Amino acid sequence: MNKRIWLSSPHMGGTEILYVKNAFDTNWVAPLGPNVDQFELELENYLGEKCKVTALNSGTSALHMSLILLGIKKGDEVLCQTLTFAATVNPIIYQGATPIFIDSEMDTWNISPDILEKAIKDRIKKGNLPKAIIIVHLYGMPAQMDKLMQISKKYKIPLIEDAAEALGSKYKNKKLGTFGDFGIISFNGNKIITTSGGGAIVSNNAALITRAKFLSSQAKEPAPYFHHTEIGYNYRMSNICAGIGRGQMEVLSLRVFQRRRNFLYYKRLLNGFVNIEFQDEPDIDYMSNRWLTAIMINDDHIKKEDLRLYLEKQNIEARHVWKPMHLQPVFASHPFYGDGTSENIFDKGLCLPSGSNLNNLQLNRVIKEITKAIELILIAQ
Ligand SMILES: *Cc1c(COP(=O)(O)O)cnc(C)c1O
Repeated sequence: MNKRIWLSSPHMGGTEILYVKNAFDTNWVAPLGPNVDQFELELENYLGEKCKVTALNSGTSALHMSLILLGIKKGDEVLCQTLTFAATVNPIIYQGATPIFIDSEMDTWNISPDILEKAIKDRIKKGNLPKAIIIVHLYGMPAQMDKLMQISKKYKIPLIEDAAEALGSKYKNKKLGTFGDFGIISFNGNKIITTSGGGAIVSNNAALITRAKFLSSQAKEPAPYFHHTEIGYNYRMSNICAGIGRGQMEVLSLRVFQRRRNFLYYKRLLNGFVNIEFQDEPDIDYMSNRWLTAIMINDDHIKKEDLRLYLEKQNIEARHVWKPMHLQPVFASHPFYGDGTSENIFDKGLCLPSGSNLNNLQLNRVIKEITKAIELILIAQ
């Protein structure tokens, strides 16, 4: 059996273990500590734009924290991109609020500014001004930030960027995660860099980022005993995980380069298939970190599940594009505004193995098997 080719596996740079060892040597085997402080500084320096960062234990808790800081509560409506992972939506439900799902547009596969604005107008007509907008930069591809920021300003609705998949991506040369009132990043094991599990909340509002530190470490008031006037959360990052993160920050730019190279390699060698469409950058304003290389198979004869199963038999992990949230049984009762775009992308979309640790031999194997599979599927018709 050929060795398994993973969709996106952790890729250590080498120095992570030194930071972790230092935590052990100094007995900082605890939540918080010097690695966490340094990791936050390094993220702030990398993102620029005078942003502040609080490191947390997951991207999901970062999303939850951003909703808490915006005061989202029971009965509020939150506009949310439907084509995403469930973790984008769950924190809306944690707060007792209602998600309003918005469809994507084909240029970036992300939230459609036109449908978003139509939905806002309709919600206002129904008597509810939505309290927040959550957009997602899918697979690292920047959403249409100029238009989205304009809408956020026009209706005075705060915007949260779910940049869980998009650390290192840029729009008009500005790093994603630094546009919205809040940005969130994930360091889960499969993301472009990992802390084995972790996340961060980003904002220009230093006071709110300080407040995120307070609320996410159990809301302990300064007093000689444990004194609480607010509900807190145990959401901070551990000093061990932050050690891994510090090592990963040293190779982040290289990881972006390696993932972008994967995309170009696939694109060049699968070029012969007119029925394979890539998630292209619409123009030079958009720079994707290419966390995952995603394709759409625009051929009624080729079911992407058949292709996925064929690759699986060859021990190659491919994955369906996210199933839209408005199609999920658990969210089916919530409003949806759309024109079928995300359903079409889900219907035809597949993510190819995209790890920064894949070599040419492995990429060639994936390409060879895709070519074989498509030929076999077409012959069988
Ligand atoms: C990974 C991911 C998250 C959640 O991040 P965790 O760190 O796994 O909690 C949220 N949104 C999107 C789009 C993601 O891909």
